Amino acid sequence: MAQMSTAPAASLNGVSLCLTSSTHHLRHHSVQPSAVSAKLASSSTAPSSPSLPTLIRNEPVLATPAPILNPVNWEDMGQDYEQAIEALKKLLHEKGDLKATAAAKVEQITAELQSTPSNGKIFNPVERVKEGFIHFKREKYDKNPALYGELAKGQSPKFMVFACSDSRVCPSHILDFQPGEAFVVRNVANIVPPYDQTRYAGVGSAIEYAVLHLKVEYIVVIGHSACGGIKGLMSFPYDGKYSTDFIEDWVKIGSPAKAKVLSAHGGKEFGEQCTHCEKEAVNVSLGNLLSYPFVREGLVNKTLGLKGGYYDFTKGSFELWGLDFSLSSSLSVKDVATILHWKL
Ligand SMILES: [Zn+2]
Repeated sequence: MAQMSTAPAASLNGVSLCLTSSTHHLRHHSVQPSAVSAKLASSSTAPSSPSLPTLIRNEPVLATPAPILNPVNWEDMGQDYEQAIEALKKLLHEKGDLKATAAAKVEQITAELQSTPSNGKIFNPVERVKEGFIHFKREKYDKNPALYGELAKGQSPKFMVFACSDSRVCPSHILDFQPGEAFVVRNVANIVPPYDQTRYAGVGSAIEYAVLHLKVEYIVVIGHSACGGIKGLMSFPYDGKYSTDFIEDWVKIGSPAKAKVLSAHGGKEFGEQCTHCEKEAVNVSLGNLLSYPFVREGLVNKTLGLKGGYYDFTKGSFELWGLDFSLSSSLSVKDVATILHWKL
């Protein structure tokens, strides 16, 4: 199933990493079709009965000023939408520096919101959330009292997972993680920033909690195909002028990956460069994980392992690679990348 392969070492934050993102010569893994169909069957549509599970209440959980979180009927919500769109248009016209295309985009969004979908059903977010929870409650929560009873007492996940915020790459879906199995951080381009108590306290606290308190055994960073964040990293000029509030600065954490890709694949077509960068950025994140002292300690004590992953949703494949660290007194890292590649 697995095939060993090695690649030249790359220097990253003073740490030498040896990785490859090649998927050549890898054999495919097979599963029983019945297992797949069983999973599909369990994700049927929400029941039609109007009675609600006891956990659903038709009132806000927190007392908040009306009408922000109060349930509203669709007619009221439609009016709010129209008013909000008008307000947005006004704002756009007041701001002279905005391009005409932005106003045109709003026109298009307005038209889309006002048109009735071909199936005749208008999207209702409240109904969608309610139906989703009803389905979960009946099909999963109520049918697995042992699991949810255990989880009510605490969690003991073996994995910490970094995944992109992209709506297509939810790790619980693509890796079938059950509740309690994975402690997940999702952000734009599935980036692990380096240890920085001021700038990256959100990610740092998640890693600290996962490693020191939950004692996860593996941290897996999962990149994916057609990642908008990585495309941004590869596209932004970084000439001193920023056009975004957060995105450029955030994805810049992956610039060692961009530099490596431009150096090794500078002549390739842009899409191919992005694919390489999607994988190399995972390696940068794995390197950045070493800047957290409790991660280093876990690696040295062999209580923690790091894995890189890549989900290609156009090919329907998943790669997993690991790093074997041999830490010497000089902090040099000798590692061998082992890539597993599944395309079912
Ligand atoms: Zn992404």
